[in-house]
Amino acid sequence: MKIAIIGAGMAGLATARRLGDAHEVVLFDKSRGVGGRMSTRYAGEYEFDHGAQYFTITDPAFREAVATAGQDASAVLWDSRGFYMKAGRAGPDTGRPRWVGAPRMNSLPKALAAGLDIRLGRRIASVQGSAGALQLQFEDGATEGPFDRVICTAPAPQAAALLPDGSPLQADLARVRMHACFALMVGWPEPFDPDWDTLRAPDLPVSWIARNQAKPGRNADISSLVVHAAPDWSDAHVESDRDHVRALMLDTASTLCGRALDGAPHIDLHRWLYAYAEGGVGRDCLSDDASGILLAGDWCLGGRVEGAFLSGRAAARRVLQG
Ligand SMILES: Cc1cc2nc3c(=O)[nH]c(=O)nc-3n(C[C@H](O)[C@H](O)[C@H](O)COP(=O)(O)OP(=O)(O)OC[C@H]3O[C@@H](n4cnc5c(N)ncnc54)[C@H](O)[C@@H]3O)c2cc1C
Repeated sequence: MKIAIIGAGMAGLATARRLGDAHEVVLFDKSRGVGGRMSTRYAGEYEFDHGAQYFTITDPAFREAVATAGQDASAVLWDSRGFYMKAGRAGPDTGRPRWVGAPRMNSLPKALAAGLDIRLGRRIASVQGSAGALQLQFEDGATEGPFDRVICTAPAPQAAALLPDGSPLQADLARVRMHACFALMVGWPEPFDPDWDTLRAPDLPVSWIARNQAKPGRNADISSLVVHAAPDWSDAHVESDRDHVRALMLDTASTLCGRALDGAPHIDLHRWLYAYAEGGVGRDCLSDDASGILLAGDWCLGGRVEGAFLSGRAAARRVLQG
């Protein structure tokens, strides 16, 4: 079959790797690079993993995929010093081992993307037609097709905008709630070590700070902090003035770091409109056999990198089973 996959994040890449041997697969992504929310922002000497911070591994299939892709060391364990603050209590942030892309978070998706047919900078506006005769309509007016199947791995609200109003998949999509996240990136040329690599503070407007330079393979001689605002706080400020958001986040982050950050030579703010999915949809992927459209993504399985991989794999399985 000829299959189009929308999105070259973890879910789309996992789907394509599984289907690629059996079918003719092409991926489309509106971004300039692969990885979706597992991305890295470059600013001169500074680099920031401003989306996913690390990932955990529980499923053997995901473990195997990471091990295979990681043979070139594109995924490694991060032995990080995590610190946790909640309700006036503080202590070590313990949990499952943390994995990261190396030397950047996008190194893992790049390794998974090797050899795939990926068309970047292509924003799809709608999916039309039915199984065997599906067409992709692009924002610039171009069309591609026909495809036998279309697998969309965009975040749920973006997937909903691409599908026809009458699609039976719309009801499931409408139930998915996704939260925004503001990511503040602060860089300066000297090292900085407050005795932690990550700080989690779920009660505060700034709920996460990571010393990006402390991850394996990064330049540890400079400082590159990634500061995330809490999901509820980000939702509440999603349309607020960016300078205001930036000033509030800098203020809280400065207090948490014990040093003024507002004079740093590099400060940038990114808004992730659909950062985290709440819960899941109770199925690892969704499909409408009549239209030939399938949906996958982290939002099916609770909103993490591993969930995105497993959902992508599930969509591929569904296609292979016919
Ligand atoms: C700030 C932040 C922090 C996070 N922290 C963690 C963490 O520490 N650990 C963890 O496990 N997870 C974390 N996550 C979540 C993790 O990044 C996601 O679960 C995972 O990367 C989602 O993969 P995906 O393939 O489902 O979606 P995405 O990565 O979002 O990929 C979807 C792709 O679809 C493309 N797309 C969308 N619409 C269109 C269109 N119309 N046309 C063409 N292309 C389109 C997008 O450009 C994107 O590349 C974090 C996310 C964010 C934003």
